[in-house]
Amino acid sequence: MFPIYDVIVVGAGHAGCEAAHAAAAMGSKVLLCTMNMNTIAQMSCNPAMGGVAKGQIVREIDALGGMSGIISDKSMIQFRMLNRSKGPAMWSPRSQNDRMRFAEEWRLALENTPNVDFWQEMVSGLLVKQGKVCGVKTGIGIEIESKSVVLTNGTFLNGVIHIGEKQFGGGRTGESAAKGITEQLVQIGFEAGRMKTGTPPRVDGRSLDYSKMEVQYGDENPEKFSYSDSTQPLKEQRSCWITYTNKEVHQALETGFDRSPMFNGRIQGLGPRYCPSIEDKINRFAERERHQIFVEPEGWNTVEIYVNGFSTSLPEDVQYKAMRLIPGFENAKMFRPGYAIEYDFFPPTQLKLTLETHLIENLYFAGQINGTTGYEEAASQGLVAGINASLKVQEKDPFILKRSDAYIGVLVDDLINKGTEEPYRMFTSRAEFRLLLRQDNADLRLTKFGHEIGLASNIRLQKMLDKKSATAGLINELKQKKISPEAINEGLEALGTATIQEKISAEKLLKRPQIGISELMAIDPEMRQALAKFPKEVQEQAEIQIKYDSYLDKEQQMVTKLSNMENFRIPTQFDFLSITALSNEGRQKLNKIRPETLGQASRISGVSPADLSILTVYLGR
Ligand code: FAD
Repeated sequence: MFPIYDVIVVGAGHAGCEAAHAAAAMGSKVLLCTMNMNTIAQMSCNPAMGGVAKGQIVREIDALGGMSGIISDKSMIQFRMLNRSKGPAMWSPRSQNDRMRFAEEWRLALENTPNVDFWQEMVSGLLVKQGKVCGVKTGIGIEIESKSVVLTNGTFLNGVIHIGEKQFGGGRTGESAAKGITEQLVQIGFEAGRMKTGTPPRVDGRSLDYSKMEVQYGDENPEKFSYSDSTQPLKEQRSCWITYTNKEVHQALETGFDRSPMFNGRIQGLGPRYCPSIEDKINRFAERERHQIFVEPEGWNTVEIYVNGFSTSLPEDVQYKAMRLIPGFENAKMFRPGYAIEYDFFPPTQLKLTLETHLIENLYFAGQINGTTGYEEAASQGLVAGINASLKVQEKDPFILKRSDAYIGVLVDDLINKGTEEPYRMFTSRAEFRLLLRQDNADLRLTKFGHEIGLASNIRLQKMLDKKSATAGLINELKQKKISPEAINEGLEALGTATIQEKISAEKLLKRPQIGISELMAIDPEMRQALAKFPKEVQEQAEIQIKYDSYLDKEQQMVTKLSNMENFRIPTQFDFLSITALSNEGRQKLNKIRPETLGQASRISGVSPADLSILTVYLGR
């Protein structure tokens, strides 16, 4: 009934979809096996993509040839570039999406990808022979063979849902939990843990009074995620709204605390600290009189509203009463209550940088199963796992992004070397080279890698090369172009910046904080004419490169300095345990994580600088 697949992907969430698409697009024969084909790429929580650090990840996925950017563009209802008032390292694209269209676009994309077969069923176990995975076993007892397996089970492994004192098995509301896989893997020797996350209630938008809320429009000139020409920015957008909780809301919520699974110890798993439930917020920040609530539409044509900021697992009657005390929610009708979910995860220190497990060859883990949270984090891991599973089957070198290449490199490196005690989400502060890892240059950083492995098309590569050379051309032109005081001083005064006494290059002027290319074009007609031929993204790129030239240089020098350690490889079979001079903790951690380079060893928590020097001596450096 089934051929022998190159790659079986278990689960069609954000990680599974990217994994299946990438592996198939690289020529592998893929089976995407998921519990319910109607929930492919379901957004379990907020219908939004991107945001701070996450938007950078979506652009990186896109530059490598993944699909999350394109799907987000095709299904977005609002776009905002967050943090525009800060430096470009902080600019972060974010979209509000149509939940149903997002899922539909992903399904269409996968159905249109040659080499992807589908099977709708729960996978209950793995077929493992002599330390190698060779397929999966399904709930009704079918065995399907493959050369590799990517597990992307999300929140489904032994998932338990909590609403007040009610508690029942489930991977998401209305969907059953997945059983069997954790138990088998633990028996084989894997370590497993428990985490939790939560979601707010959804309400009927027709029952809200928006006159009591602040409107939040999308950007005036919306952009998009994908660098490719296959999508266009939005012409129309839907607005979101902002309202606030108050003392009365908090008091009403507190009446349910004795029935809260969070507070009475029924929930054991650790949840995301930076994404707390409303009960957690009013408990931890008792001094705050109000918390912000974002009122977000779930799509173009639906009245369903996502109540962002009101995640809760309190009893549904308490949720309902408290919610109706929020301004604008006095007559709110609830579609479904918020809930918390606990699920199994596998500490990611059990993985290689390719996301293949140390214990079972050709078995890969990606997404929430690795202790992360968020669609973007999941999707990027799916991409890495799918690419590597495919490369391994094709007997090609693995694909590993360094910390200086991409946020995706930071994510994987952090997970593998440091593990995570609580749901891991990406922040810009996790990246030491964040000035280099911007959302505007993910194509310049990564398209060549995506193209090399056969995922990013020739068209994408050419587009990136054109942008690169046009940017270099524009920077050159700005260096050559000398502007006279007569042409510009009036404009400079209007901008509140010092006038000039003699001719100065446009490049020098652009180093001033008050002046960007658009200001130059506005105050100098000659510049306007000269620069109009360059596309907006080229203008933006040139401006960033000129303004931040010295900082970018410094970061680049740091990367080069560290690359010696990064490139110093440790032999695969190196016996860390035999080096008695290493500290006990250092030796154990090195043996468990098995770093591939000295650079990686240096980032393992518990490996001290002294351990590193000893290791360096033993490796004969
Ligand atoms: P999922 O999207 O969970 O997909 C898993 C897929 O695997 C599903 O298609 C499922 O059917 C399938 N599957 C599972 N087991 C099997 C099996 N044995 N056989 C076959 N198929 C299987 N993230 C945030 O960033 N912020 C939040 O506030 C937030 N809140 C959340 C609230 C809830 C209630 C939930 C459930 C998730 C929340 N998340 C949140 C997390 C976000 O949804 C996930 O990070 C993201 O969806 C993970 O993607 P994934 O691909 O790893 O798994």
